[in-house]
Amino acid sequence: MASIEDLPIRTELKGLTAYGAPRIDVPVRLHTNENPYPLPDGLVDEILAGLGPVLRGLNRYPDRDAVALRTALAKHVEAGTGLPLSERRIWAANGSNEVIQQLLQAFGGPGRTALGFEPSYAVHREIARSTGTGWISAPRAEDFTVSVDASRAAIAEHRPDVVFLTAPNNPTGNGLSPDTVSALYDAAQAAGPALVILDEAYVDFQRTPSALPLIEDRPLLVVVRTLSKGLGLAGLRLGYLVGTAAIVDAVQLVRLPYHLSAPAQAIALTVLEHAPALLANVGRITAERDRMVRALVAAGYEVTASEANFVQFGRFRDSHRAWREITARGALVRDSGVPSWLRVSVGTPEENDVFLAAVRERLP
Ligand SMILES: *Cc1c(COP(=O)(O)O)cnc(C)c1O
Repeated sequence: MASIEDLPIRTELKGLTAYGAPRIDVPVRLHTNENPYPLPDGLVDEILAGLGPVLRGLNRYPDRDAVALRTALAKHVEAGTGLPLSERRIWAANGSNEVIQQLLQAFGGPGRTALGFEPSYAVHREIARSTGTGWISAPRAEDFTVSVDASRAAIAEHRPDVVFLTAPNNPTGNGLSPDTVSALYDAAQAAGPALVILDEAYVDFQRTPSALPLIEDRPLLVVVRTLSKGLGLAGLRLGYLVGTAAIVDAVQLVRLPYHLSAPAQAIALTVLEHAPALLANVGRITAERDRMVRALVAAGYEVTASEANFVQFGRFRDSHRAWREITARGALVRDSGVPSWLRVSVGTPEENDVFLAAVRERLP
């Protein structure tokens, strides 16, 4: 058998290509919204010291329920929101992408649908597809915000089993107010019941207050967060959800046993002890974002208001060609498939300067 076309894979996978940003060898890589700052040496040393006993115990399976880690995550969320939380209301997996996959395995699936407000994070739609969940794309407003009236109408029309909200939204950067989250939750339940997944991957960067406290009296609202962005641990693969204990019980029906490795649990535990120090970089990143926005506007571009560690900029007559030219000038940005727009992640000041020099000369 020579190629994938010859394989007896599921019909709905035929002809597709794998999701992911192109991997191109360009000096400055501002295309996957990573945190540009590596872990400090002192923390690396502390992680290494803690890993000794963990590595000696690798003949044993890890804690299947990751109780110590979930307890630390509960404390971390509590510190950020003031909401007292038990570890029974937290679940962790290999990146928030895996958490979302587990949620769709439990709440979506064949014969069910998930609705998202697009353009948004394409992985939501990808996970819907791979779990056999039908996908409904509802539009955002012209300025990429979520219009409450239009969105309520879309939910009432389609009566989805799962609704995705992303705050701040990727790739557009818009925040989402708790009032809007609450209104759309109510609409989803009026048409539902439906699980409402609020993806807060960029919560550490946002000005708008988090809608997480709304979980208190909304049993079908689940907030998904990650250590990949604000905390700068994309390589670790650690994400989590905050919801009711019943939702945590539900994902445990579909999770693979021992899905989170012992080293990952141990590293995350040590990192969380130092979360406040790591989050000090967030201020540097948002200050750089604001500098990039000013420079882009001064160079004649439009930007969408961003509450995250990236900026959507345009408009281009030919965004593919603009992407190629910026790449050729040494900065890799993201073509997220939003017509006329591209997205750039905030890097270090030096990286951002390379990007800004690349776009200063007018592009198509
Ligand atoms: C980056 C990102 C994630 C993070 O995924 P991980 O699997 O936790 O690395 C989740 N949601 C959105 C919207 C993102 O942009």
